[in-house]
Amino acid sequence: MKTRHILISFLGILTASWAWDALYMNTMSGDWPWVAQRHGLHLTGVWAISLMSLAMVLATRPAWLEEPLGGLDKIYKLHKWAGILGVLFGATHWLIKLAGDPLASLIGKTGRPTKDVAIFFAQSWRSPAKDMGEWAIYILLALLAITLWKRIPYRPWRMLHRAMPVLYLMVVFHTVALMPAAYWAGPTGVFTALLLLAGVVAAFMSLARRIGRNHCHAGSIVGLTQRGDVLEVVCEPDERWPGHEPGQFAFLTFDRAEGAHPFTIASAPHTDSRTITFEIKALGDYTRTLGQTLRVGQPVVVEGPYGRLDYHLGREDAAQVWVAGGIGVTPFLAWLESLQVEPPKTPVQMHYCVRDAATDPFIDRVRTLCASTPNLTLYVHDGRFSQRLDAETLLASCSPIEGRMDVWFCGPSGFAKSLEAGLKAVAGPGVRMHREAFDMR
Ligand SMILES: Cc1cc2nc3c(=O)[nH]c(=O)nc-3n(C[C@H](O)[C@H](O)[C@H](O)COP(=O)(O)OP(=O)(O)OC[C@H]3O[C@@H](n4cnc5c(N)ncnc54)[C@H](O)[C@@H]3O)c2cc1C
Repeated sequence: MKTRHILISFLGILTASWAWDALYMNTMSGDWPWVAQRHGLHLTGVWAISLMSLAMVLATRPAWLEEPLGGLDKIYKLHKWAGILGVLFGATHWLIKLAGDPLASLIGKTGRPTKDVAIFFAQSWRSPAKDMGEWAIYILLALLAITLWKRIPYRPWRMLHRAMPVLYLMVVFHTVALMPAAYWAGPTGVFTALLLLAGVVAAFMSLARRIGRNHCHAGSIVGLTQRGDVLEVVCEPDERWPGHEPGQFAFLTFDRAEGAHPFTIASAPHTDSRTITFEIKALGDYTRTLGQTLRVGQPVVVEGPYGRLDYHLGREDAAQVWVAGGIGVTPFLAWLESLQVEPPKTPVQMHYCVRDAATDPFIDRVRTLCASTPNLTLYVHDGRFSQRLDAETLLASCSPIEGRMDVWFCGPSGFAKSLEAGLKAVAGPGVRMHREAFDMR
């Protein structure tokens, strides 16, 4: 299910329960502009706090939601959009509140509905709750701008993002103190109470740094190999390591102060050892230092495995195409290794796009693994000779089966978007793109 469908369904359920409480069970009397303003205030408030609670819960990396939502990268995408929409509805809620003054000067205050009565234990919290909501929304809007402005580097953004649970708790206080008492007795109150409870637990988990704890495994580095700008790190997690499926990833912590970074497990599970291999490209400030700082024998914390990039989940009656761009080849390395034991049942076309095949650190391994895999054809696209992969080139090597094609993609997101759009335009809606998002912001 796509992120937008989940969010539309979530908002639909909330809106229906709010409509039952506000428009059917507890009707409001007053002049219609005032009634509309009050309803707008309540509805946007319910949307904002519910979406913020959802974002808070999803931030805890709930492994049990991986299957229904299609992997942790999709969970993070939903977290991001729930958070963005939650803040935008929060800002709308605040603007609707501000609209009260111009409305009063325009039509007067006499037709206003009576003041909302809060739940019994929170009736004296009104004034601090209003201030807290206002301050929280100012800061949340500033943080949202920083999130969307990608020029701000990841590390300072992540530090600022740690303030989110505190801001969320401020908004929870605002909600409990100001939501009309009548709502708590109906479906709006039930949904809100459940979401607030889950969100508050998630916020405290985050503040206590307990996120992902149950999936953490102490381990050590057992091998290091530098190939160009890619460092191969072989780790051995403790005996509690549950094993992984090819295509999954894990968060690695080499240094507590730096925190965890996600990397795909680039090896198939081994029957005789727990070792797992990561291929880390020097893409940023921290990954550039790893070649100099990591040592064999050094401890590492492996959190995972996570992710649902698994070609077995594709349709049996669809053409199978794999597309790897640069370091995005890592899940395919794990798949190719696993295919040595269990070859693919249906033909697979693999496209590997590289900047320069002459110096690419994986090209020999990919060629060797593909050559020994029955039913698999490899196409290499070498950027040095302007060999670009687009929808037409891909379709020239493989046609959809009765309009159906499953494309498994890992690489730059701009490349994924243009390829998907091109394939859908030429081959129609039967093309399904399965992607691993390498970007969590
Ligand atoms: C599911 C997944 C699988 C990945 N697999 C691989 C892989 O197999 N090999 C590989 O080389 N890279 C992989 N990456 C990318 C890798 O995580 C980043 O390149 C690395 O974290 C960059 O860190 P930096 O501090 O050096 O770079 P920075 O310049 O600080 O950041 C560059 C980008 O990396 C991402 N990033 C940085 N820190 C984190 C973090 N703690 N958590 C999440 N994202 C972060 C952000 O999108 C950021 O914009 C994967 C990413 C994801 C999400």
